[in-house]
Amino acid sequence: MSDTIQWFQYKPGLVGETQRVTHCTRITVGDRIRSWCRREFDVSAVEEAAEPGAEPGPGQVAPCGPCVPCLLLATAATEQSPAQPPARAALAVGHP
Ligand SMILES: [Zn+2]
Repeated sequence: MSDTIQWFQYKPGLVGETQRVTHCTRITVGDRIRSWCRREFDVSAVEEAAEPGAEPGPGQVAPCGPCVPCLLLATAATEQSPAQPPARAALAVGHP
């Protein structure tokens, strides 16, 4: 089972640009994609995007602005990455 987080967003022209935020998911059920912010999307209405802040890979498009709930959940899920110190640990400093 892949541990990769998939980022996706509405294809251009389907919704207003303000609604074209990049969500992340690990769950695809039939032709529905469920994002971590608990919204459902039709797979035909969305396109695979690169992780926000990353260069698009093969088959990926440049991401729109990230969905904040999805971004926070993804950050928490990848918190063990040495490149990104956990925010929780930083907050704990000075609070014994
Ligand atoms: Zn989202």
